[in-house]
Amino acid sequence: MALEKTLVLLKPCTLQRALVGEITNIFERKGFRICGMKMMQLTDELLSEHYAHLSEKPFFQRVKDAMMTAPVIALCLEGVDAIAAVRALAGPTNGRNAAPGTIRGSYCMSFQENIVHASDSPETAAVELARFFRPEEIFEWNQATFPWLYANDEF
Ligand code: ADP
Repeated sequence: MALEKTLVLLKPCTLQRALVGEITNIFERKGFRICGMKMMQLTDELLSEHYAHLSEKPFFQRVKDAMMTAPVIALCLEGVDAIAAVRALAGPTNGRNAAPGTIRGSYCMSFQENIVHASDSPETAAVELARFFRPEEIFEWNQATFPWLYANDEF
């Protein structure tokens, strides 16, 4: 168990569908601490880096183009085992296969237009947080509910 920070992006489809508040609320209700939050217009250059692992895929450019059709909201979320917990809450990539109750299972029908991006490992989270946030845009603040979110041997 470790207190971790992870990167979430609310994708352009989420802004277009006016789901920013609803999806952010899911993360807040779950108990994650919001350490950073900002609106950004992504560029092809940044997306080529962010989605480098997809560069050989036939849909690479299409996925990047979709991510530039509107701004995104970048979130830095913190919690115990936050990286895996956010991925579990997001559900698998294809919304049609995602279990009911997950974000993708509840809010989307698409492989591509799948509401959120979430970092998939501690190494990726560190690289992605540095890609989307400057150090001074990540805030440490005392989450008053912390003792009610975890037992004291869980962090
Ligand atoms: P995830 O976002 O679940 O970590 P990937 O890193 O594999 O998934 O892919 C990044 C994004 O690229 C996905 O969230 C999705 O928007 C898009 N994508 C991935 N695979 C496909 C696919 N087969 N068809 C369409 N879009 C895809």
